[in-house]
Amino acid sequence: MACASARQSTMFDRAHDAIVAARSRIDGRVLRTPLQPSPRLSAIAGVPVHLKLENRQTTGAFKLRGATNAILSLDAASRRRGVVTASTGNHGRALAHAAKAQGMRAVVCMSALVPTNKVEAIRALGAEVHIVGRSQDDAQAEVARLVERDGLAEVPPFDDLAVVAGQGTIGLEIVEDLPDVETVVIPLSGGGLAAGIAVAVKAARPQARIVGVSMARGAAMYESIKAGRPVAVEEVESLADSLGGGIGLDNRVTFELCRDLLTDTVLLSEDEIATGIRHAFTVEDEVVEGAGAVGIGALLAGKIRSKGPTALILSGRNIDPQAHARIVGGAGA
Ligand SMILES: *Cc1c(COP(=O)(O)O)cnc(C)c1O
Repeated sequence: MACASARQSTMFDRAHDAIVAARSRIDGRVLRTPLQPSPRLSAIAGVPVHLKLENRQTTGAFKLRGATNAILSLDAASRRRGVVTASTGNHGRALAHAAKAQGMRAVVCMSALVPTNKVEAIRALGAEVHIVGRSQDDAQAEVARLVERDGLAEVPPFDDLAVVAGQGTIGLEIVEDLPDVETVVIPLSGGGLAAGIAVAVKAARPQARIVGVSMARGAAMYESIKAGRPVAVEEVESLADSLGGGIGLDNRVTFELCRDLLTDTVLLSEDEIATGIRHAFTVEDEVVEGAGAVGIGALLAGKIRSKGPTALILSGRNIDPQAHARIVGGAGA
């Protein structure tokens, strides 16, 4: 299927094979989410616009796909020992859930600065929580210690072929449900979601446009592509909190794929993200967190110019209910 073109690297072919394998591996363990037409957004854009509802995925975000595929890709001995991560966000939740579903040990390492409600949410999903130090670096050091001491397998949030492949199954579903898709709009942080979907969609439709959307504050992949190599960015608070963080200076998978496959990267202001959250709720009847609303926000801001059927990924719904109520009630950023 993957036709020869300068765009398509060995990495592309490896990722594509991994996505096809991931599809059958995670089938029945994650939801095949709906691709729902949006009459209002279609009228505004002048092309058919569809919403891929990963906000309705189990655990509230697409990350369950990558975490489940990574866990099921481990050998039997590693599975008996368990998995570890330092993510307290949607990846940590997903890994905790996926491990529990397999009866496996999962440890989530975090610093003492992580709020109690996040700690409890991870514990409620059945993971062990290790609280160490006062920074993300301290939490990451604890991950390394547990890999060494207990032989746990670290499952990274994005820069891992099995994780990218799990997220890429979204792209296979989009092409099945919307065979003439022309533009796919994807929230972009570390690039696991965008890389996976881009490979799956481009393998079937090489001419499709893949647009990444990040918040204007601290857009690590955007800055890295511009610089031609992974660069560090300053982390700033944003409504799209799930899009925060760097891409890793030693990035091995997602930088190359995003650099080669993204047609464009769009940056949004906090107000544009808030507008996306509000539209999702009041018009589409969907609860979506900031990161999940950037596609809608970009379209409403006139920053997506597609010429054909368009799919927007609503990537997650895990937003503090009070913040959500305040935003849909009309407050801006
Ligand atoms: C992790 C996440 C993203 C970004 O995914 P990457 O693979 O890091 O680019 C977008 N939206 C939500 C809700 C997420 O949890």
